[in-house]
Amino acid sequence: MKVLVINCGSSSLKFQLIDSETEQVLAKGLCERIGIDGRLTYSPAGGSKHVFEDPLPNHTVAVSSVLSKLTDPEIGVIGSLAEIGAVGHRIVHGGEKFAKSTLLTEEAIKEIEACSELAPLHNPANIIGIRACQELMPGVPMVGVFDTAFHQTMPPKAFLYSLPYEYYTKYGVRRYGFHGTSHSYVSKRAAEILGKDIKDLKIIVCHLGNGASICAVDGGKSVDTSMGFTPLEGLTMGTRSGGLDPAIIEYIASKENMSLAEVLNVLNKKSGVQGISGVSSDFRDLEAAAKEGNERAKDALDVFTYRVAKFVGYYAAAMNGVDVICFTAGIGENDIAVRAEILSYLGFLGCKLDPEANNVRGEERIISTPDSKVIAMVVPTNEELAIARETVAIVG
Ligand code: AMP
Repeated sequence: MKVLVINCGSSSLKFQLIDSETEQVLAKGLCERIGIDGRLTYSPAGGSKHVFEDPLPNHTVAVSSVLSKLTDPEIGVIGSLAEIGAVGHRIVHGGEKFAKSTLLTEEAIKEIEACSELAPLHNPANIIGIRACQELMPGVPMVGVFDTAFHQTMPPKAFLYSLPYEYYTKYGVRRYGFHGTSHSYVSKRAAEILGKDIKDLKIIVCHLGNGASICAVDGGKSVDTSMGFTPLEGLTMGTRSGGLDPAIIEYIASKENMSLAEVLNVLNKKSGVQGISGVSSDFRDLEAAAKEGNERAKDALDVFTYRVAKFVGYYAAAMNGVDVICFTAGIGENDIAVRAEILSYLGFLGCKLDPEANNVRGEERIISTPDSKVIAMVVPTNEELAIARETVAIVG
């Protein structure tokens, strides 16, 4: 079956058409600046990248443009829309309602709408994407795959904040966790690569991209993760602060004469390694600056790696041990120095890096020595493939 995977943001839409039998990507691309002017990038497998600057006034036009490229006689990869057997939608927040992917019935869409309060920037955009596809591909089954679903197995001791309990019962204030599709895919893939049953493994997945989170996967289930009520908690990220003393928010608001919303905007968009370094949120820029002697860039890298290592320590304790540490996403897959620095803290766990094996980018590879008690490995994530697999599993 051919599955169209859609990841819809408020002004962007990423897509991939995947053949679920061969698991090959037939075409992929991105619509940007939807509602502003519009730009569509389209790459068919084996072909070159095409860029179209046609107007994209709304998401329905964006989906329609994507479908017309996919069926285009010259650059298309399918003869007609009838070849698309299902659509898989990435959905950011499923609250406590969705512990699994689901067929997008009207009832399910209403439940997703009800979760919008928890993800006001993301869920409404996801729903717009669903509606646009329904309009243009009536009758094609659609599946929602949630970033939060994999973490619904967390026990109360991991998901409860130490706040008055009624904030949880009345408003759903708890830790949800994100990047679940990636943590699930990477942990399963790690077990496969090692030829072991995931039920017998304690795995810590470090998803280190512009957004970053760590997950403790015990026997195939998420038991704890570093992001919380929103994707702001936990690690130091590209521009997000990660965890901090909440008293800072009021303090900065009064010192800088800002509203709470303005301070939160700083925590989301102007903090993290960008905020510390004042250089960039991109690790390639930070490393170049650090090499030239920029102390703040070096501090930013140190804060990042130190915090990742601390979380690995928490989760080794949470699971009473760890067998495998996986690195994934942009930094985890590509940044040799950052991986080495993180693992330099973890010798006490019995994890020994093989520097030669670690000299790898974007490839599945074990990077610890053969005698290392804990296996460290690079496992590139593939959220789109995971969404396509989930979609096929549900529509059959
Ligand atoms: P992601 O959000 O998973 O796409 O990750 C994006 C981030 O990965 C970028 O902002 C960079 O910080 C980082 N990244 C990508 N390629 C490299 C590389 N070759 N070396 C170091 N960091 C990289």
